[in-house]
Amino acid sequence: MKNYVDLEEETWKLYQEARVSLQDKFCELDRICVENTAKVLAAFWANHVSESHFGSTTGYGYDDAGRDVIERVYAQIFGAEDALVRTQFISGSHALSKTLFGILRPGDLLLSISGTPYDTLHEVIGIIDNPSSLKSFGVLYDEISLANDDFDEEKIVDYLKSHLVKVVEIQRSKGYSSRKSISIDKCQKIIAKIKEVSPKTIVMVDNCYCEFVGVLEPTEVGADVVVGSLIKNLGGGLAPNGGYVVGKKEIIQLVAEALTLPGEGRDVGPTLGVNKAFLQGIFMAPQVVRDALKTNCLASYLLDKLGYQVEPSLLEERVDIVLTILFGNKKDMCLYCEGIQAGSPIDSFVKPIPVDMPGYQDQVIMAAGAFTQGSSIELSCDGPIREPYLAYQQGGLTFESGAIGVLKAVDKIIKARKED
Ligand SMILES: *Cc1c(COP(=O)(O)O)cnc(C)c1O
Repeated sequence: MKNYVDLEEETWKLYQEARVSLQDKFCELDRICVENTAKVLAAFWANHVSESHFGSTTGYGYDDAGRDVIERVYAQIFGAEDALVRTQFISGSHALSKTLFGILRPGDLLLSISGTPYDTLHEVIGIIDNPSSLKSFGVLYDEISLANDDFDEEKIVDYLKSHLVKVVEIQRSKGYSSRKSISIDKCQKIIAKIKEVSPKTIVMVDNCYCEFVGVLEPTEVGADVVVGSLIKNLGGGLAPNGGYVVGKKEIIQLVAEALTLPGEGRDVGPTLGVNKAFLQGIFMAPQVVRDALKTNCLASYLLDKLGYQVEPSLLEERVDIVLTILFGNKKDMCLYCEGIQAGSPIDSFVKPIPVDMPGYQDQVIMAAGAFTQGSSIELSCDGPIREPYLAYQQGGLTFESGAIGVLKAVDKIIKARKED
C-alpha cells in the first residue's frame, strides 16, 4: 500500500496497532455476516431464484417474474408476510413518505416515539409547513422524545391509553442528532408493550442504516411495517436507487396503491433492468455492511487515539453503520472530510467545502465520492458547520477501500498538527 498512498509514519503505526486491537471485534462482525449470508441464500433457495429473473419489463410492467421473486426474497429475509421493493421508490425518504400516506387517513394520529424524525420527513408530516403534507390532509402528529437514549415507556403507555394512535413511528438510526441509535432489543421490548396497551396501533420502523448490522430485523420482533433505502445497506452498493417496505399483507397493499394507483397497486411498476442489481445487491449486502462496520470500527479506534470523542465507542455494540465524530472545531472537521473525499474512487480530486443547503440553518460539509449519487453505503462523511462540530461518517463498500479513505482523513489531521 505504501507505494500508492502517501501517509505519515505516525498514521502507519496507528493503523498497524488498530489491525491487532480490532481482531476480536472483526471476528464478531464476520460471524454476523455469515448468519446474514445464510439468511439471504436460504431465501434465494426457497424462492427458486434463477437467471430468468434478471429479465426486465417496460411500460406498465405487468407480470414481472423477477420483481415478484425479489419481493418474496425480501419478505422471507425479514420474516414478513409481504414486501414491496421498487425502483419507483426514489430512495428511503420516498418509501417512508408513501408508507405514511398509504396508511394514514384524515383525522388519524401519527405518534413518533423516538423524538423528531429524520429531516426529510419534516415536510412530509407537516412539522415544517407544506401544502402537500400529511397535516394538510388533516392527519394529526405528536412526538415523544427518548429518555437517556431509550424509549420513554411510561410516557408512551400513558399516551396510548389516552389517545387513539393509528401509527407509532420508530426511527432506529440517529440521523443528524446527537442521540444513540436504537438496538433491536429496545425495539422488541417497546413493541411488545405497545401491542399490549394498544393492539390495533400499527408499529412502523424506519430501518435506514440498520439492516444486517445484527441478525434480527424489526419485523422479526413484532413491527408491522419496516421501511428502508436501497442506496444504503440492502442495495449492497449495486442497486442504482430504490426503497423497500416489508410487513403485514394488508399494509403492503395500502402502500402499493399509494405508490402506483388505487386498483392497480403492486401489479404495475416496470423494473427497467434493475432486477439483477437488486438481487445481486441483497446477495452482497451482508458483506458490504460488515465492511462498512469494519471501516466504522477502524475510524472509531484511530479518532479516539487522536483525542476525538466518537459514538459509538469501539467497545459499544453497533446498531447501524453510522459513526458520530465530535471534532470540536471547524478546521479539523473540514480536514477530515477533505481526506475522506481524497480517498474516494470517484471525484477524489475535488475539495469539499461548507455550503448553504436548502432545509438547513447552518452550512453543511459533505464528503462523498460515490458510484451512485447520494449513496451512503459508500464511504461518506458529512455534518452541519456548527457547535460542537459533529460529523457523521458512514459506509465503505469494501473494508480495504474504506480503511484507505479513513487513513487519508486521519493523516490530513496528523500532517496539519505537525505543521502547527
Ligand atoms: C438516510 C435516512 C433516511 C432517508 O433515506 P434516503 O435513502 O437518503 O432518502 C431516512 N431515515 C433515516 C434515519 C436515515 O438515516
